Amino acid sequence: MASELKADPDALKFAAGDHHMLIGGDWVHAASGKTFDTPNPATGETLATVPAGNSEDIDRAVKTARAAFETGPWSRMTPSERGRAIHKIGDLILEHGDELATLESLDNGKPYAIARAADVPLAADLFHYMSGWCTRSQGESIVPSVPYMPGAEFHAYSLKEPVGVVGQIIPWNFPLLMAAWKLGPALAAGCTVILKPAEQTPLSALRLGEIILEAGIPEGVVNVVTGFGEDAGAPLAAHDDVDKIAFTGSTEVGKLIVQAASGNLKKVSLELGGKSPNIVYADAEMETAIPGAASAIFFNHGQCCAAGSRLFAEKSVFDDVAQGVADAAKKIRVGPGLDPSTEMGPLVSHDQMSRVCRYLDEGARDGATALAGGNRHGEEGFFVEPTVLTDTTNDMSVVREEIFGPVVTVIPFDSAETIRQPANDSEFGLAAGIWTKDLSKAHRTARQLRAGTVWINCYNVFDAALPFGGYKQSGWGREMGHEAMALYTETKAVCAQL
Ligand code: NAP
Ligand code: MG
Repeated sequence: MASELKADPDALKFAAGDHHMLIGGDWVHAASGKTFDTPNPATGETLATVPAGNSEDIDRAVKTARAAFETGPWSRMTPSERGRAIHKIGDLILEHGDELATLESLDNGKPYAIARAADVPLAADLFHYMSGWCTRSQGESIVPSVPYMPGAEFHAYSLKEPVGVVGQIIPWNFPLLMAAWKLGPALAAGCTVILKPAEQTPLSALRLGEIILEAGIPEGVVNVVTGFGEDAGAPLAAHDDVDKIAFTGSTEVGKLIVQAASGNLKKVSLELGGKSPNIVYADAEMETAIPGAASAIFFNHGQCCAAGSRLFAEKSVFDDVAQGVADAAKKIRVGPGLDPSTEMGPLVSHDQMSRVCRYLDEGARDGATALAGGNRHGEEGFFVEPTVLTDTTNDMSVVREEIFGPVVTVIPFDSAETIRQPANDSEFGLAAGIWTKDLSKAHRTARQLRAGTVWINCYNVFDAALPFGGYKQSGWGREMGHEAMALYTETKAVCAQL
């Protein structure tokens, strides 16, 4: 490899250091003393060793979060003071941008340049945006007229209050950004939090824990417990003293979260999988639609819940679109995330690579044609070739299931009149894309799609002000935008007779 590897020295120092969990402002070992390794996916070698938390650690963290919620300085801070501290988290993320982007690249595998240009500024932006809601989350005044109390007068109003102690379980595809999506609105609402990062990518959440303390968020308000899903995530979801659980990850685990939460009927929000249709009409501007369709699936190596993994191309342009995306796939430079020439890094883990390769085998067995890719890339690290499949049918696993890798199926369709059924023929409903110069057709199609986000002549555009979440089995609730505040607030009606 000719290019020089770029590695921020602070990130290397952090990764190599001793790692503890954050509970009540203290950096502690797991109660059991157990640890686990997080690998560097570009090499398969151990990057860092972190504490393996279990139910005892979760219990400690919930107790401290409860105390911080009920009696700590956090509950006495004014909305404006809270907003300033949350804003400061965003500032510090930007200040440590090189370090955080490097940590993200080392732990997750994604190219440094992408983490630096997208993950880091988006995470900062989220805290900056959410900080403004602290002073804007307000109830309303209401005038009741009660039929069985003739002549009675009332003064009534609603209050927006924090939902309480919140458990947050996040995945490995955007480790820092997912922590931001979760923590930003929870803190803006005044909640206290126990955050469990994914086992594959714990490092940026731990570094964020330091930043959060430095920003002036009081001890115990944010707790970070590292550990495995079954050992640390499950007891958090089931804990009787947790008021709400927010989860991002697979639909399969999402269903387990719902079951675990039923014990005390805690509030639940879920951001789950997707198999998003990306629709290219024959009248699209092909110079943008084809690279757009490639980026819709290959961004973050296809490890995006919103990935445009079912590419629908109108019949008259099907060959051009399929071949165009395949050509783009073949040109992608696959390599370690810290190599500046890399456009696509390794998948996050050996498991994830095996899972994606299993789908590639199933696709080939079922009769799909690989116009590009179709295999593991190289023998070291967890790389998979950017893959474009055609000749698929709707019953194949590569078309129906979330692969969460750089694999797109290209499917022909007839016209705007017939796209609705195949596009919506999925248990998921997270996102969709539409490419056309005819904006009336674009907006008409947008209304037909059962998806939480529809992009027109663009894809993977995220903003802190745009609500994001899923229809159908893609989830419950919306993150970001003002709707995110609803996930973390209770409404109290107060009614006084005058
Ligand atoms: P996952 O198992 O759903 O993991 C997501 C988070 O849930 C992780 O923090 C995980 O901890 C935790 N978890 C796992 N089992 C749990 C349980 N029983 N109770 C509570 N928490 C639990 O996802 P994955 O195994 O990493 O990936 C599998 C597939 O999920 C992917 O191939 C993809 O299809 C999908 N996925 C979707 C998204 C998305 O953004 N929608 C993100 C990631 C993955 P551990 O890391 O310790 O297991
Ligand atoms: Mg897992």
